[in-house]
Amino acid sequence: MNVYDSWRIAAMLDARGMCATKNVADADIIILNTCSVREKATNKVFSELGRIRDVKKTDALFGIVGCVARESGATAFHRMPDLNFVLGPQSYHRLPQILENPDAKLLNIDLGGLEKFDEMPQIVNAPTVSYIPIQEGCNHCCTYCIVPYTRGPELSRSYDDVIRDTAMAAQTGAVEICFLGQNVNGYKYTDENGKVFRLSDLIRATAKMPEIQRIRFTSSYPTEMTDDLIEMFRTEPKLLPFLNMPIQSGSPDVLKRMNRPYSLDSYVEIINKLRNARPDIQISSDFIVGFPGETDADFAQTLEIAKRIRYINSYSFKYSPRPHTAAALMSDQVPENIKRERLAILDSQLNEIQRDFNETCIGKTLTCLCEGADKTGRHLIYRTPYMQQCIVAYPKDGAPLTMANIKITAANRASLRGEYVKD
Ligand code: SF4
Repeated sequence: MNVYDSWRIAAMLDARGMCATKNVADADIIILNTCSVREKATNKVFSELGRIRDVKKTDALFGIVGCVARESGATAFHRMPDLNFVLGPQSYHRLPQILENPDAKLLNIDLGGLEKFDEMPQIVNAPTVSYIPIQEGCNHCCTYCIVPYTRGPELSRSYDDVIRDTAMAAQTGAVEICFLGQNVNGYKYTDENGKVFRLSDLIRATAKMPEIQRIRFTSSYPTEMTDDLIEMFRTEPKLLPFLNMPIQSGSPDVLKRMNRPYSLDSYVEIINKLRNARPDIQISSDFIVGFPGETDADFAQTLEIAKRIRYINSYSFKYSPRPHTAAALMSDQVPENIKRERLAILDSQLNEIQRDFNETCIGKTLTCLCEGADKTGRHLIYRTPYMQQCIVAYPKDGAPLTMANIKITAANRASLRGEYVKD
């Protein structure tokens, strides 16, 4: 979401005759687009701002946008008095105001809705993989999560707007579309005639665009994985056989305290339906270890479910208390050393499953999408349909193929190696 928002901000400044520079000392305006989902990320923002202040031109404008801006509000100006602007995730389109009035301090952290999508220019020359936000905010209120505070309640963009953006991306270079939302599968838009559109409708319409060869979406909430969406995995071959559906914990007690009201049985049932619809589908998850009150027995249940589902690629984190959340106030916080230990154990198990899966790919031919060259320029990086990274030698003759059939020749935990299959 932040990557996409940064593109739109860049397009907005581009339309005003500005261009990007990699050198902070050359910049006339410096914008840090921030994430507050973990405490470490928030702390990094202010140390980074200190570094920027020391090297930027004296009259360069600088500020923060995004979730840390929303979380900090006016206190950001106290922590860093030189800041020129602080804009929350739904106020990016207000940025030009600081260009018009550079001596003012600009603060806007309102949860004003989705006008930013209408008021910011489109991205032209879409990247091969184009992210299209379809909804923002979240109504789930997991007790550890700051998103409902920073991004507000769930809002879905209009079906027509999403399809217009998707078509524009397709016509200007996109081959893969990734629909985005904090609760992407909760997408629900009702038009003026009362017609309801869901994520499955967006997928169906996007699949008809000839330029688009791959479709995916992230991030999914288990109880929003409705049958119409599961059916898409059976009927729509352009939808990749890969899904991130975070479980967070394998302990029913912890899930209850997290305010994630699904049972392990219902979660497994959804996975079974998905595998029935698309037998080769692979699942990834997010995990939080050391949630307040998590016991050894709770943690053992997390290890158990990870083994049972065989997630091929996951994101696991130590619980990090966030302001404005209920879990931060829970009394039975888990000591840091125990969180660290549990994270290491879980990571090691998840890594083993990932390596095993990657090894099963050796000898298979997968249709992959090129992401560009590696740093040496001698290899190309492709993504498999399961989002694995696959490294291929740069072709000696001819240009690299955007989409290519690649035979997997080797694997380790983090990546695959492969070679082009000659037609
Ligand atoms: S569903 Fe995701 S975004 Fe929403 S509150 Fe829970 S963790 Fe946060």
